[in-house]
Amino acid sequence: MSFFPMTGTVIKNLFSRPATRLYPFVKREPFALTRGHVAIEFSQCILCGICAKRCPTHAIAVDREKKEWQIDHLACVICGNCAIVCPKKCLSIKETASNAVTSGAKADETETHANA
Ligand code: SF4
Ligand code: SF4
Repeated sequence: MSFFPMTGTVIKNLFSRPATRLYPFVKREPFALTRGHVAIEFSQCILCGICAKRCPTHAIAVDREKKEWQIDHLACVICGNCAIVCPKKCLSIKETASNAVTSGAKADETETHANA
């Protein structure tokens, strides 16, 4: 049995780079093809509602009367269906994730776009 079983580990850790980052001051760039969140170029949207119909979690709501498009980011599972079926290609999957939410902050995760 070694007399100082942890000595090797301690010396190695003293001279190696830290395994963690000083988040949020140091952020890692997302990996390519990371599914972060759904984004819309609303000026291109024709409010056809196909994205809402094809969304498996009903995260998208389209109200043609109010000329309003809405997404609940907490309900979205980032499957990408909406971006694939959108006839105007105005939906896309961005690499950056939405901000973390705390309980009671659900309203902050609902994003609404509307025409005046
Ligand atoms: S990515 Fe999937 S779950 Fe999210 S809004 Fe689009 S269709 Fe719905
Ligand atoms: S499918 Fe595209 S154009 Fe149609 S409502 Fe959705 S985002 Fe707008």
